[in-house]
Amino acid sequence: MPLTRGQFLCAAAGAAFAQPALRIDAARLRTHIETLSLHGRPPGGRFEDGVSRLGYSDADLAGRALLMRLITLAGAQPRIDAAGNLFARRSGADPSLPPLLIGSHIDSVPSGGNFDGDLGSLASIEILHLLHTRNITTRRSLEAVVWACEEATFAGRSLNGSRAAAGKLEPGELEHTSGGLKKSEAIRRIGGRPDRIEEARIAPGAYHAYLELHIEQGGTLEKEKLPIGVVDGIVAVDRYEVEVEGFANHAGTTPMPERQDALIAASKLVLAVRHAVTGEPGRQVGTVGHFEVHPNAPNVIPGRVRHSIELRDLSAEKLLRIAERIREQAARIAAESGVRIKLENKVHHEAALATPAIQDVIQSSAKSLGLPTMHMPSGAGHDAQMMAQLFPMGMIFVPSRGGISHSPREFTDWADCARGADVLLQSVMALTA
Ligand SMILES: [Zn+2]
Repeated sequence: MPLTRGQFLCAAAGAAFAQPALRIDAARLRTHIETLSLHGRPPGGRFEDGVSRLGYSDADLAGRALLMRLITLAGAQPRIDAAGNLFARRSGADPSLPPLLIGSHIDSVPSGGNFDGDLGSLASIEILHLLHTRNITTRRSLEAVVWACEEATFAGRSLNGSRAAAGKLEPGELEHTSGGLKKSEAIRRIGGRPDRIEEARIAPGAYHAYLELHIEQGGTLEKEKLPIGVVDGIVAVDRYEVEVEGFANHAGTTPMPERQDALIAASKLVLAVRHAVTGEPGRQVGTVGHFEVHPNAPNVIPGRVRHSIELRDLSAEKLLRIAERIREQAARIAAESGVRIKLENKVHHEAALATPAIQDVIQSSAKSLGLPTMHMPSGAGHDAQMMAQLFPMGMIFVPSRGGISHSPREFTDWADCARGADVLLQSVMALTA
């Protein structure tokens, strides 16, 4: 006779605290992460050599096949939606309640690591497995999901599966090609139905909430020596394209005072970006990561420079304020350098804020396990930002060693993986009760 969550707690209380809090099987979770790493590993490589498991690739297909077997072992039935997202449901005692959704992704960047996405996906399946073997029936149904192609490896687009679920595919996107493969064919490859892609859409409120466990991909938790991050949200991104127009002239015959050197002006602007970003307290970041110099020849004064500016923060207003300071500096630099500077906003991604009530659940779950936490933004994008448009969302971060990710050197201590999965488990128990 399966126990409900309430009965489970009563049974635990009845045993006069003899029964410890429900914990995931840390050894099994580790084995599953190590087994998944076989798919996409470089030939002859080891776990430490990471994976190239690009969305829709053969390695991705093999990894998904493994996960479907693990889902079956966890007593659930794998289901693939029209976009190729992989779902597994464990029914609760009250089927009238919207289920809780937990998950992540298993695709990687080229030469990626073994934890980004894999941890959250396998921890979600581990929770189904644990409830199955302990014969625990939650009140609310629980569903695990492995989103298709989260990384921006197909035609430069990220969050491919979760965007389809949120109804945010671009018009004509199924016609995009990558490596000679059409997106519709890629989706079909992993068992999706591109002809019925609309059926992948999830209605707002269809789930009670979405929870995702993920590695931090930064070094804050490690630096603060804290095991758990409670994510405040996924930052907004503003990307600008800058064009600096000077005058290309002979590098030998043009006297220094007469030059209109676009690269000198652009260099000043790069420093001005850093200054503007660090000019107020907070966790905002700004980067000039793309830079083109014309004509890019040793004996010609640079006549034109094109570069990017990318700003990220949870607050869109703060990003606008920083951009305004950058514009002021650009005007000053243009005037003193005799060049023209054009600054144009090309990309704006809204921030996706985590739901305070879900953050509270994560926080108290960690506390119940004796794990200290800190609140933090996510500077990287996640499938959770798509789900935040549909229902309450929360994310749990665990430390990344050295703050490294998207690299074979990406690593999270196994004990930290287990701690994060346990916080996810406690949060699941609280939200499905
Ligand atoms: Zn990820």
